[in-house]
Amino acid sequence: MVDLRTQKGKVYLVGSGPGDPELLTIKAKRLIESAEVILYDQLPGEAILDMLPESAERIDVGKYAGCHKLSQWQINELLVNRAKEGKIVVRLKGGDPYLFGRGGEEAQALAREGIEVEIVPGITSAIAVPAYAGIPVTHRDYASMVTFITGHEDPTKDETALDWDLLARFEGTLVILMGVSMLERNVKELLKYGKSIDTPVAVIERGTRPDQRVTTGTLGDIVGLCKQRKIRAPAITVIGDVVKLHQELARN
Ligand code: SAH
Repeated sequence: MVDLRTQKGKVYLVGSGPGDPELLTIKAKRLIESAEVILYDQLPGEAILDMLPESAERIDVGKYAGCHKLSQWQINELLVNRAKEGKIVVRLKGGDPYLFGRGGEEAQALAREGIEVEIVPGITSAIAVPAYAGIPVTHRDYASMVTFITGHEDPTKDETALDWDLLARFEGTLVILMGVSMLERNVKELLKYGKSIDTPVAVIERGTRPDQRVTTGTLGDIVGLCKQRKIRAPAITVIGDVVKLHQELARN
């Protein structure tokens, strides 16, 4: 039994990086190994999920394909309850906890309950996945700006929060996360607002993992190519001239 008077619970929001276990931070590894409770979903990938110690209570909060998926509210409640029991809890999140993926909301829910929460940044897929595919998101000759976009907005929202007009005119690199199912719409929007049909595009599936796959094309043909190759999540879409470096810099 945990003595509630002496042990105070704490939640660590831990970034796992994009999937290659060697991209875990030393701190993430230490916390994973010592946690009493670990809440995870499938985004960190098999290699990292295989490292979760059996001694910890491991809760899969995102059994997407299986069937049941806990709501964000239920996840928050679990985090709060386990911490109130005095447990040391790791909430493992793919990439970096504060880039999309609702880490900020989880931290707020905990803070509101007066629970101690510590954030452990991770290597974000938004930069590391293009990098493993030989694509630097900035480069002096090609792009001196980069923007990170969620390709799949909350479907309950009435209006798009994304200013596609602005994005089409943006001269830096566009990196789209969560965009697989909405790729066609997103490409259409960029073309509608005048982005060149020849703009290079790369879609990188399961980046940094042994079965990483890269598909390159242009705004004109990428949708067709992705359908042909049956692209699946998780994938990152990179749009801009930096994609030209893929040929030269990719390891595979
Ligand atoms: N916080 C995460 C992103 C969460 S949103 C981060 O910093 O990386 C989930 C999206 O991340 C996925 O839909 C996909 O677009 C991207 N993603 C995460 N890991 C990935 C990987 N290994 N390969 C390709 N895309 C990945």
